[in-house]
Amino acid sequence: LRDASGAPLETARATLRSVFGFDAFRGRQAEVVSRILDGQSALAVMPTGAGKSLTYQLPATMLEGTCIVISPLIALMHDQLRSARANGISAATLTSADADWRETMDAFRAGELDLLYVAPERATQPQFCDLLTAAPIALFAIDEAHCVSEWGHDFRPDYRQLRPLLDRFDQVPRLALTATADRRTRQDILEQLGIPQEGLVLAGFDRPNIRYQVTHRDSPVRQLVDLMNEQPGPGIVYAPTRRKVEDIAAKLAAETGRPVLPYHAGLEPGVRAANQAAFVASEDMVIVATIAFGMGIDKPDVRFVAHVGIPKSIEAYYQETGRAGRDGDPARAVMYWGAGDFAQARQRLGDMPEQRRNDERARLDMLASLIETPHCRRAVLLRHFGEDPPKTCGNCDNCLSPPEVTDATETARKLLSAVYRTGQSFGFGHIQKVLTGSVDDRIEGRGHDQLSVFGIVAGEEAAMLQPLSRALQARGALVATEHGGLALGGEAPAILKGEIPVEIVIPPKRSKGRGRGNSA
Ligand code: ADP
Ligand code: ZN
Repeated sequence: LRDASGAPLETARATLRSVFGFDAFRGRQAEVVSRILDGQSALAVMPTGAGKSLTYQLPATMLEGTCIVISPLIALMHDQLRSARANGISAATLTSADADWRETMDAFRAGELDLLYVAPERATQPQFCDLLTAAPIALFAIDEAHCVSEWGHDFRPDYRQLRPLLDRFDQVPRLALTATADRRTRQDILEQLGIPQEGLVLAGFDRPNIRYQVTHRDSPVRQLVDLMNEQPGPGIVYAPTRRKVEDIAAKLAAETGRPVLPYHAGLEPGVRAANQAAFVASEDMVIVATIAFGMGIDKPDVRFVAHVGIPKSIEAYYQETGRAGRDGDPARAVMYWGAGDFAQARQRLGDMPEQRRNDERARLDMLASLIETPHCRRAVLLRHFGEDPPKTCGNCDNCLSPPEVTDATETARKLLSAVYRTGQSFGFGHIQKVLTGSVDDRIEGRGHDQLSVFGIVAGEEAAMLQPLSRALQARGALVATEHGGLALGGEAPAILKGEIPVEIVIPPKRSKGRGRGNSA
């Protein structure tokens, strides 16, 4: 930062006050702004709400020429446009939804615009490139820059075509912005957009007021009712399908008497908008939704975000749970997962082209490591985003009550071996019976009582089978077959050979045992 020697950052602070009305930079905004004012490119990775827009809007008002902002969503652009204009910044959009193209282009040519927002598909057209030669360009801001990476969760091919435009104006600094980019996505963005390594500014992913908890799902409605009783105030419950959204919403409303509404893409647009508006206005409503819900809603007092089922990735989890506690008051993020979630997700990998399959598998493995860790969840999350957090946070389930970790290598070998010897086509229930030596018609009929693995697990070891099977499914050593049976996958051969040890987390025992088997 060139604060001591002076000029640019001092002037920037004055502009921060006079144009935006803020007293100080937040987080690492100043670093980004200072690089841009120095004519250098940057990639700013900061969570939603950190104030990314300011890092290009402020230089745009200070630098000679127009800042071109590439942004994927028209609605988002129009929001930005309104807020920029409210600060007295001269801004315009060039989208299919605008009627004032000619005026906008004239204003640009006359050098009257500080900010010009365009969609990537427009920015990559030759006519746009020609237009840009007509007036000085101050800066290229590339919003939602993770869209440039196939590894990112929202790849958009148009983003890949931006490079020739940027290179045509190679003296103009580039500022890429995103809220969600793990290490590999960040690397990709830097390379694809030609931003040097030292331009990476990464900041502030910790949400200290959110208490993270990951727990096995045995009876989702009962678990959610308990959560609602422990944690009053507005909440969001993410469920995987429309049907489950409807079902859970109805049951929660009936059991708690609290206002609970569903939200998913299958509802009439009018109903959807009304439910969303009711949620935003309410102080005690719970909304049960598919992941379509939450993009761009601004409700600071959400007290909990619950997941029934696994999110798509750690990034998705971070983003979805990040909707809790924006006001800074205590809030909770609870994930209720089941082994079936991983089994299904891993089964879907089979239909994907190879590259995508490998990426998705790596994402699931990382998610499994968050779920299976006996250590601090926050530390896992923050390390995933490239930060170097303390070992414990004191505000996640594992820090608050450290779980018991057991070596389960031998039991894992027995379990995998039973799956193998029964022909990799039976579900967990059958395998469990074989291992614990219980006989039924199917076991006799198939001669599974004659196998060497029959009855080799007893006593306390038997209690380990269920959590172990979940853990092995989470990490892909057991995978589901088309017909719901279990088969060997991933590390299974190495585990069988004793090359890889298996440790599992023993979940704390619950007192009440209601709702068994209802793990939908
Ligand atoms: P992001 O794009 O990172 O999600 P925004 O740019 O929308 O975040 O900013 C989030 C909010 O923070 C906005 O209301 C913005 O006005 C405010 N903000 C940004 N920078 C500052 C600052 N330095 N001081 C106070 N408020 C700020
Ligand atoms: Zn912790």
